[in-house]
Amino acid sequence: MTTKPIDASEAARNGGAGRTAPATEHRYRKNVEWDSVTWATHCVDCYPGNCPYRVYVKDGVIVGEEQAGTMPVVEEGVPDMNPLGCQKGAAWSGLLNAPERVLHPLKRAGARGAGKWAEVSWNQALTEIADHILDAIEEDGPETIINEGTPGEGGLMTGFMFSRLIGLLGGLALDTNATINDFSPGIYLTFGKFDPASSIDDIFHTEFVMYTHSNPAYTMIPSFHFTTEARYKGAEVVVVAPDCSPSHTHADYYVPIKPGTDAALGLAMAQVIIEEGTYNREFVCEQTDLPLLVRVDNWRFLRGSDMRDGARDDQFYIWDEVTDALAEAPLATLALGGLRPALSGSRSVQLKDGTTTHVVSVFELMKERLAGYTPEKASEMCGVNPEMIRTLARKIASKRGSIFCGGTSFKYYHSDLMLRSYLLVLALTGNWGRKGTGPVEWSVAGFDGPFLSFAKSDVGRGEARKVLELRKALTGAIKNEDPTMTEEMAHIELMHRFAQVQGQVPPAMLWYEHWGYKENWNNRDYNDPSMQRPFDDFIKEALAKDWWKAPARTATTKTPRVYFEVGGNAMRRTRGGQNLMLPNIWAKLRCAVSVDWRMNTTGMWADYVLPVAHHFEKMAFMFPTPHLMNLTFSDKAVEPPPGVMAEVEMAVMLAEKIEERAKARGITEVTDALGAVRPIAGLRNLFTMNGALDNTESVAREWVSDAVESGNLPEGTSLDTLREKGYMRFLNWGMGPMSHSQAADIKMDETHTAFTWHTEKKVPYPTLTRRAQFYIDHEWFMEADEALPCHKDNPPQGGDYPFSMTSGHNRWSVHSMNITNKTLLQTHRGRPHLVMNDSDAARLGIRDEEEVDVHNDLGTFIVPVKLSPSVRPGQVISYNGWEPYQYKTWKGASDLEPGMVKWLHFAGDYGHLRYWPLQWQPVPFDRGIRVEVSKID
Ligand code: SF4
Repeated sequence: MTTKPIDASEAARNGGAGRTAPATEHRYRKNVEWDSVTWATHCVDCYPGNCPYRVYVKDGVIVGEEQAGTMPVVEEGVPDMNPLGCQKGAAWSGLLNAPERVLHPLKRAGARGAGKWAEVSWNQALTEIADHILDAIEEDGPETIINEGTPGEGGLMTGFMFSRLIGLLGGLALDTNATINDFSPGIYLTFGKFDPASSIDDIFHTEFVMYTHSNPAYTMIPSFHFTTEARYKGAEVVVVAPDCSPSHTHADYYVPIKPGTDAALGLAMAQVIIEEGTYNREFVCEQTDLPLLVRVDNWRFLRGSDMRDGARDDQFYIWDEVTDALAEAPLATLALGGLRPALSGSRSVQLKDGTTTHVVSVFELMKERLAGYTPEKASEMCGVNPEMIRTLARKIASKRGSIFCGGTSFKYYHSDLMLRSYLLVLALTGNWGRKGTGPVEWSVAGFDGPFLSFAKSDVGRGEARKVLELRKALTGAIKNEDPTMTEEMAHIELMHRFAQVQGQVPPAMLWYEHWGYKENWNNRDYNDPSMQRPFDDFIKEALAKDWWKAPARTATTKTPRVYFEVGGNAMRRTRGGQNLMLPNIWAKLRCAVSVDWRMNTTGMWADYVLPVAHHFEKMAFMFPTPHLMNLTFSDKAVEPPPGVMAEVEMAVMLAEKIEERAKARGITEVTDALGAVRPIAGLRNLFTMNGALDNTESVAREWVSDAVESGNLPEGTSLDTLREKGYMRFLNWGMGPMSHSQAADIKMDETHTAFTWHTEKKVPYPTLTRRAQFYIDHEWFMEADEALPCHKDNPPQGGDYPFSMTSGHNRWSVHSMNITNKTLLQTHRGRPHLVMNDSDAARLGIRDEEEVDVHNDLGTFIVPVKLSPSVRPGQVISYNGWEPYQYKTWKGASDLEPGMVKWLHFAGDYGHLRYWPLQWQPVPFDRGIRVEVSKID
């Protein structure tokens, strides 16, 4: 007798070897059969994202997607990261057949925004776009080609390819951190970098965490479990929020606060800590500028240049209690040696011209400032009970504590003051650079592939090595100019110098000149009253003193003509939205191109829409972050629809077309405004490294190979091994603009804690004073009385209206792309809404679900109201991410935002106050906009 071998998979499908499945069970099991399974993640600005998923395909169609749940334990005793994922990720493939999907290149066939389109061939679309580009280059110069910076739906390959192409032509890329408003000026002012980002599992070590400007139950779905797990082992959790945030149910203390008044709370906590003497003197003296001396005759730091000829202007001083004499603060280290700085008292010092002046420490000045912020006084400003302020101050002073300042903290007009105040609390209590402590922001690091591959002159690891060696030589030369510089400072200096000649620019001056913000920014009523001169005065001064250098000069002389939005949605996201952009920048453009998988609001107003493959239809990398410490790979699971392609292939075709059309015009090269000559003959070869990088797979292979050369990934890692494993923990921070800012060694068996180089190795910070800096003696800051942090009310941006409109991410849109996902829309009311307090609504006669008119000086939108007693009276919440076309009049909250920037953020020529990519620059705010809410007759 012969036996038939058992097919193990068939047996498993049948519920066990030898068992025959009943027909219904068999039908059920057939639903979960697949032909192939690939790794995936969601390559969109879902910070920190990077959740590894498995995607199942049968007969060329995605039949399932699930969390991989395979992240290893990193540190013994600390829970692993599993299961990373959220409801958006679980419904992702539904977008592949979304009704807004674009499946052919489209050309506008009527007026802009009229909704009339013609399907055109790729050849026609790219030929016409190439001609617009060449017209712009010939008539006005390449700087008139604008690439709107966006994290890009589609991962690193989306943005990098078009940025590289437009950069090769001499066009400009708007700094992403400005366009998405994710820059925190307060953290930057204090640390000279804005992105301490300990890993998400590090929070497990905390004993006390204050969530401010953050609603982690909505926005940290994959990682919030570390907070609840920390709480299970004894940590206390505080949620500080104006509304009774959905996260408050997970907290030990919910602290209601008036919107935009966090600086008062932070300063009052600092006041209690100093008054009760519970501050960490050693940390304060070593890590911060609080012991540095300030002259009382001009309120400037006492500097080397005050004391002797030829001395450094950035040499600062302390008063040494051991010798009872003036002493230079060390420059090359934070270690104080035998010095014991005095924190209190006034002394007189003799200056180099023989005159004497009195000096006091920053700490002394801070104490005076904090006298205005006793808990009782601060309570009047922020509404937090004085005893609660004392409780919070005492707890954080006695514990391993963290203040988690979420993304909303960047988006208030006075966000810098709020963050400086909270950082002061952390400084006084020694709460950063230790496990489970610190402020938490965002960062990108650990993957040099994209940077290296495009800095090389040819493919291969040998070329990558040459770039790394060149970079080392350049930073070495910079350090030779000043041997007291740290490695981090040298890299920042290199990036600052490089920013003068590369195409990525801070967009503020362009916005001012061309986007239509000029009028709003000059509206005195929308600005803080402490701005003592017209806004224009500050802009003129910054330009006259050349603080913003080449990018600002270009912005004032060149008018944008060709505009690319690749994988983003500026018309939804930009403060001021359609009301601002359409009559201003849009009216100046000769050609606007949206490169996207779908028709979004920007596409609706564009001249061309070029359709790209969706996630799961192409290979991609999500940008890796210190929060997860892994490079995550997303493979192609299914073929894109016919005629739709990935960005790499599309950009290569465009390069080829530009070269072809240029040849027909006899153009072989272009000279940019800085005099650099850029070849157009041979553009395709230049762009693709002689054809070696002309498709997604070859680019991905090169990036991974270069990342191995750079030491980001272990030897032996390749695209093939990533395809098998799905993700890889990175070994070093890499060379990207943010890489050195973590200031910490990566330990493979420990959670990542930012800033340990500063606290443990005593490496100085990249600020003017080389310490965490709380005193900014820039003339503008002194004029505004913001040399030290203080509280200032949010100005009435938008006009004199009774409601304060705030925002944040809703449960369904940590990123905005899924806001139209049909599956997700069925899990809530399925349309935009405005959350309003029920007593306010009753007073105005507004019912739940009733459509209301929301308006201010800038415009109007119509939206149904969702009544909730969780919102404080006087506040309304319009959560972020809705497409304007989901509203009745196709206008949303962003259309009512004046997009104010703070005038002080144009300051320059002061230590760390200078631009380098993703860092110091003005960004528009959108929280606390004044609006009226009215019934519609
Ligand atoms: Fe993770 Fe973001 Fe994907 Fe959700 S959408 S599963 S948080 S990567």
